[in-house]
Amino acid sequence: MAAATIDPVMPTYARFDLTFVKGEGAYLFDSNGNKYLDFGSGVAVTSLGHCHPHLVETLQKQAATLWHCSNLYHIPDQERLAARLVENTFADSVFFANSGAEAVECCLKMARRYHDENGNPEKYRIVTCEGAFHGRTLATLAATGQEKVLQGFDPIVDGFDQVAFGNLNELRNAITEKTAAILVEPVQGEGGIRPAETEYLQNLRKAADEFGVLLIFDEVQTGMGRTGKLFAHEWAGVTPDVMSIAKGFGGGFPIGACLATEKAAKALGPGSHGSTFGGNPLASSVANAVLDVMLEPGFFEHVETVAAAFRQKLEGLAQNHTDLIDDVRGLGLMLGLKCKIENTALVGKLQENGLLAIGAGDNVVRFVPPLIIEDTHVDEAIAIIAKSLDALSKDAA
Ligand SMILES: *Cc1c(COP(=O)(O)O)cnc(C)c1O
Repeated sequence: MAAATIDPVMPTYARFDLTFVKGEGAYLFDSNGNKYLDFGSGVAVTSLGHCHPHLVETLQKQAATLWHCSNLYHIPDQERLAARLVENTFADSVFFANSGAEAVECCLKMARRYHDENGNPEKYRIVTCEGAFHGRTLATLAATGQEKVLQGFDPIVDGFDQVAFGNLNELRNAITEKTAAILVEPVQGEGGIRPAETEYLQNLRKAADEFGVLLIFDEVQTGMGRTGKLFAHEWAGVTPDVMSIAKGFGGGFPIGACLATEKAAKALGPGSHGSTFGGNPLASSVANAVLDVMLEPGFFEHVETVAAAFRQKLEGLAQNHTDLIDDVRGLGLMLGLKCKIENTALVGKLQENGLLAIGAGDNVVRFVPPLIIEDTHVDEAIAIIAKSLDALSKDAA
């Protein structure tokens, strides 16, 4: 038998030639002993930095007590987590999953089933936005709707109608008697750190009520304090009927959830949906520990303050480098530089200089640092970004 030439790890990712062996707060250390300031957070996941003492202690304690228990039985940590989410959001009920895509998948199933239960099985279509990202399962891919991620996966799951992000008229016109829900990210993450306007989000709520469809916010990336509030939609003063969360929710432990109002959640009764791992004791205890930290008085104010300082300094850099940077965009600690050069060139140069950032759509370099950063981290990052932009300017000249 000929030896396979494929890597034992399936080659679905384009990886940097970098191996991290240790994390501490806002820093990562590679296998050569180099230190990096981590403003990527594993794509907005390690929201409290690496190895936060409260998370480490909680996980270690839980690991020595009970890791997993099926949803066939009561799970007190899961019940407490759900109750706390309910207490702090629009939601009345929570389903626990293990990832963002699964959280969104639950939202999609709920929307279809909600109308089915109400005697309108013809209402199954979901209106989504161009530039969106909702995950990699077959249905969430269809919701994402971008050519490059759908390529080769025909037939595409039916039931998604895509409109321009931010165009209310186009969205309203796309709603028909077959529409079940509107699905939108309050700030598009993968699509290039594109915040929806407050008025747009408010008008989505109005449109959903007017046409009797559900409003779903995908807060997988924007949620859990990322924008300076527990959830980004709070800035707009409107609430969805259903919401997906994941990424920062477990601070690095895989957990996602679908939050919903009673009206919507009632559609998923016993046997209608499930997950083997979802909300198991280990995941739930760690997510509770994340909430312990975030719900401390002053946590979100800190995010807002440090984010404002970071943004202001980024804008200063952008003004000094109009040759390389178009603009600064985002909300809270979800910030992007829209580049005139290849965003990958800037990401690479930053990495060379010890700062981790992540590329996003629309040629944007994305900064999603841990929410616990201080002004000193901002200054360190800004110095590296300035140095990197200077070097790239020289290269280009
Ligand atoms: C990352 C992301 C997802 C998918 O999350 P996974 O955990 O990778 O499945 C879905 N929606 C949004 C908005 C995301 O940013």
